[in-house]
Amino acid sequence: MEKLAVVLIRNDRRLHDHEGLTLSQSFDRYLLLALLPPQWDQLERIAPERKRFIQSSINAFAESLGPVPLHLTSEPKLLLEELSENFDVTLLAESQGAEEEAHQLRAFNVRNLLLTRPNRIFEQREISPTFTPFRKRLEKFAKASSPEGRVALHPDRALVLQPFRFAPFDVPAFPSVGESNARARVKVYLERYLDSYSETRNYLEAPDASSRFSTFLANGEVSARWIYQEIQRRDPENWLAVELLWREFFWHQGANFALPSRGRSVSGWENKLSHPLARAIFNELVTTGYISNRSRQILASFLVYEVGLDWKIGGAFFEAHLHDYDVFVNWGNWQYIAGVKFDPRGGRRFNLDLQQEKYDPDETYIRKWA
Ligand SMILES: Cc1cc2nc3c(=O)[nH]c(=O)nc-3n(C[C@H](O)[C@H](O)[C@H](O)COP(=O)(O)OP(=O)(O)OC[C@H]3O[C@@H](n4cnc5c(N)ncnc54)[C@H](O)[C@@H]3O)c2cc1C
Repeated sequence: MEKLAVVLIRNDRRLHDHEGLTLSQSFDRYLLLALLPPQWDQLERIAPERKRFIQSSINAFAESLGPVPLHLTSEPKLLLEELSENFDVTLLAESQGAEEEAHQLRAFNVRNLLLTRPNRIFEQREISPTFTPFRKRLEKFAKASSPEGRVALHPDRALVLQPFRFAPFDVPAFPSVGESNARARVKVYLERYLDSYSETRNYLEAPDASSRFSTFLANGEVSARWIYQEIQRRDPENWLAVELLWREFFWHQGANFALPSRGRSVSGWENKLSHPLARAIFNELVTTGYISNRSRQILASFLVYEVGLDWKIGGAFFEAHLHDYDVFVNWGNWQYIAGVKFDPRGGRRFNLDLQQEKYDPDETYIRKWA
């Protein structure tokens, strides 16, 4: 029987530094199969605009494959069963995601499942209750792993199943999706804006105030190892490297949804955004699918401490809308702000009047998103 590698493509839509794709080239045949996120059809889990964003990312990945076809089916389990009748199948999937994604994989019930390395900077897993000791240990004792190059896919060995061949989704091409846009953004940002990052990163809104790498990272369109290496090469002390370590921190801790609720389910909480800054941030998020880190902190704090909303409801709302939604980073940050985990100070409560005075003194932002 021929050995067939089925590479599941989830949030890892890139050709550089992709262990699964690289390994698949040593099998007799390989097939690329895109998998949609769990609960794809539940509107409250994934708002329509975020859905289009993900679809646009899948389109970009399919295009980047050139002659090698991508496949997509609503019944991946059935397809895998059929393939197993004719091939010795190994399923390759990047190790990522939380329990739900792991469940999705287990449900396929394949004999050979190979989990490949996650899109993290450090191979060695470090568990720490808070960020600072985690960062210190990594910086002192661990070695960041090096990114692999771009895989050369052999079109002649690619298995093509016409009925399951991916047809592009009918959605606009978002400028912030796709591996080539990701790599171009990293190069431009590091060349032009790295020096000013620590001064500007807290702005409420400005396209180059922060890197905007998050959407590319969330879709796996760029390698975290590569970005980190590029920063280290230019300016190892730069604060941007520390922010990437925050992502790393949450990825190493994993996701724990069993933590206690804090707050309650407030009916119509969307109409209780009594502070104009909270209202403006909410409007920007729903309209664009992106808000700055400072805005996320302010809105999350307002919802938890002023509205009294359960942090789990706030986190789910961010999940539905954020184009850069990342299971570990989103829930980790909510837990931090709400003071249920990770924060040695037991939570972060922001004074919105002071935040407005500092970051939007002339109300430009508030007026724009009123
Ligand atoms: C309540 C809340 C929810 C969040 N949800 C998400 C989410 O779902 N997905 C997501 O990618 N980020 C999330 N963040 C973290 C952060 O706000 C975004 O990563 C950042 O604003 C993205 O913009 P940027 O790429 O320009 O960031 P930059 O400031 O340029 O930072 C560079 C990279 O560092 C990482 N990073 C920055 N800040 C954080 C942080 N606080 N925690 C972990 N990693 C960080 C990200 O990968 C980011 O792309 C959340 C923050 C809060 C407070």
